[in-house]
Order: sequence, then C-alpha cells, then structure tokens
Amino acid sequence: MRIILLGPPGAGKGTQATRLIATHGIPQLSTGDMLRAAVAAGTPTGLKAKDVMAAGGLVSDEIVIGIVADRIEEEDANRGFILDGFPRTVAQAEALDAMLKSKDKPLDAVIELGVDEAILGARIAKRVAETIASGGTVRPDDNADAFKTRLAAYRELTAPVSDYYRQTCRLQVVDGMAPIADVSQQIDRLLSAPSSEPMRKQA
Ligand code: ADP
Repeated sequence: MRIILLGPPGAGKGTQATRLIATHGIPQLSTGDMLRAAVAAGTPTGLKAKDVMAAGGLVSDEIVIGIVADRIEEEDANRGFILDGFPRTVAQAEALDAMLKSKDKPLDAVIELGVDEAILGARIAKRVAETIASGGTVRPDDNADAFKTRLAAYRELTAPVSDYYRQTCRLQVVDGMAPIADVSQQIDRLLSAPSSEPMRKQA
C-alpha cells in the first residue's frame, strides 16, 4: 500500500502515519524526519538544509527528491510506504509520479487532512508545551515566526499539490478537525473502499 498524507503543518499527518505504520506494517517516510536526521548527523545535505528549515522555508526540490528516490529503493519500502511531508511542491509530485511509474508501483491513496488554519497555531503551541513537559527538545522551527513562514510556504507551494491530485481524481479528503480516533476511522474507511470511487472535495 502506497499512501500520501497531505495537509498543513500541525494537521496531524505524523499522528495518523504512526498509527498506519502499526496497522499496515509499512514504513512512514517523513522527509521532515529524514532532513532532521541529516542535520543532526551534519551530512552535506544536513548542512545545506539546516538554516532554511529552522526559518520555516522549504528545502530545495532537488535535495528532497533525491532523498525520497533513495529511500523508496530500500527493502522495507518494497511492500509500500506512507509518505508524510512529501510531495510539498508540484515539481515533487511530478517527480514522484515519474519514479513510481518507472517501478510500475502507482499510489494507492492520496489523503488530505482538511483542517481549519485558525487552529494550527494552537496545535503547534500544544506540541511545544508537551515536548518541554516531557523533557524533549523543541524543534527549531516550532516558534511563531518560523510557523508563519511554514504556513505561507504551505499556502503558496503545497496547496497546489492537492489540486494536482484532485485534477487526476486521486485526492481524498478527511475531516482533520475531528478527534484523532475519528480521523483514523475515516482514513481506514477510505483505504478499504474500492479505489475506483475517490471521494473528492470541492475546493
Ligand atoms: P511540518 O510538521 O511543518 O509539516 P515537517 O517535519 O514535515 O514539518 O518538515 C520540517 C521542515 O523540513 C519543513 O519546514 C521544510 O523546511 C523541510 N521539508 C520537509 N519536507 C520537505 C519537502 N518535501 N520539501 C521541502 N522541504 C521539506
């Protein structure tokens, strides 16, 4: 099963991906996590990505597409994967289509978590508070300024990715404002429904 989760920062992609890993036994490929690992390890990619990530901007398509192309070649991705945080631009979506076409392994589902942008800031603030309470390290881009930039990047560059999949009838939208368990249920329903009947949301 090859699944993409779309939605703005704070929409709950990571939360749902974690659950899907457990239920479907496929890996979560989070470009954010992969890039943070590269930054922590001080690799050439990490050095290039560090500042732009901390400011809330997008890392170049070239770097991110390269990371994903390598990652989906790994053995654990053979049976499928959940992409979280990728594609984030139409160029990335086109590159992914080309990669999967060459492997004859099309996407099974593109699911957007639809959320009201007004609540996203509060969700991030909650994540920061929980991280601090548990003694963890707060992400450098989980602050008000960087979050504004992340949201702006989402509106400008990532929202068109939803249109890209909508135009080819591959986009399915769930209500990301519902409680976590309800969102999970909506996703499960979509994944078990015949793929010939995509649920489409009017923009
Ligand atoms: P969020 O929780 O905001 O969705 P992620 O953990 O997915 O954030 O990503 C954190 C940062 O990593 C992004 O703000 C961006 O700088 C970089 N990044 C992650 N995925 C991509 C991508 N597909 N293209 C470009 N930059 C990316």
